[in-house]
Amino acid sequence: MKIISGTQVRKELLEKYKETIQKKNLKIGLAIIQLGDNEASNTYIRNKLKYTQEVGIDSQLIKLPEETTQEELENQIKALNKDKKITGIILQSPTPKHIDFTKCARLIAPEKDVDGFSEENLFSIRDNQEKIIPCTVKGILKLFDYYKIPLEGKNVVVMGRSNIVGRPLADALINRNATVTLCHSKTENLEKFTKHADIVISAVGKAGLVKKEMVKKGFVGIDVGINMVNGKLVGDFTKEAGEKASYMTPVPGGVGPMTVAMIIDNLIELKEKEK
Ligand code: NAD
Repeated sequence: MKIISGTQVRKELLEKYKETIQKKNLKIGLAIIQLGDNEASNTYIRNKLKYTQEVGIDSQLIKLPEETTQEELENQIKALNKDKKITGIILQSPTPKHIDFTKCARLIAPEKDVDGFSEENLFSIRDNQEKIIPCTVKGILKLFDYYKIPLEGKNVVVMGRSNIVGRPLADALINRNATVTLCHSKTENLEKFTKHADIVISAVGKAGLVKKEMVKKGFVGIDVGINMVNGKLVGDFTKEAGEKASYMTPVPGGVGPMTVAMIIDNLIELKEKEK
């Protein structure tokens, strides 16, 4: 079994991004909006600021109080949409319950939509135009490229149908000529689908979901899930399932590091489209 190291790929990509930004003298500004003080979000944001700043991006956190209203948040996004120094905007999830996250995320101008959650960008994947691809999805595609894992004609099972991972990922894989089966919480007999798959991708968030009986020998496993079990970070695949793979992403160190790298990839893409 070969480990797909997102940490290693990210390291190489960051060097490349830094060089591109310097050589082309790209002035990139990133604004991250956070409401309140969620502990997990704080960690994600710290990472986003660290890696973007390391490659020469002017990134800033706009930390608003938990009680910020929907209207105030919408006004903040509209102001950033008009700000010429800002290349990209991220609305950090989760937002407090009184906020309509989808509505606010879709208010971000498509040309500043680093996360790729706007209707225009999401539909562009469905339409095989692929303008801005959500970071986790793009990160997984980069891993397939880097490890030269073919997708054309392959049987791929994607588990999870969220708007930010499962669905756009299924669309992007169809664009690359894979045969895609999308499974979700109501799928009966999951094993029937996973057993014959060349590639199994789990974006569910349930530790131990993918067991060794459910996969064939030599499959490629992509574990997007993030779960805390007894204080340890684990994915959705059991260790035994992973051992049957020809290639497997670890958790941590697989898909996660790629997601933050793709923020930079998307920012460079947005900046270059500005011209
Ligand atoms: P979500 O909660 O929005 O979606 C989970 C999906 O899993 C749903 O579509 C549901 O239908 C499906 N599901 C639930 N039970 C299932 C089952 N038994 N079999 C098959 N499908 C089932 O989650 P999300 O935002 O797409 O994230 C999914 C997981 O990926 C989470 O663990 C999240 O933390 C992780 N994640 C990781 C990264 C990363 O960078 N590594 C990025 C995004 C999300």
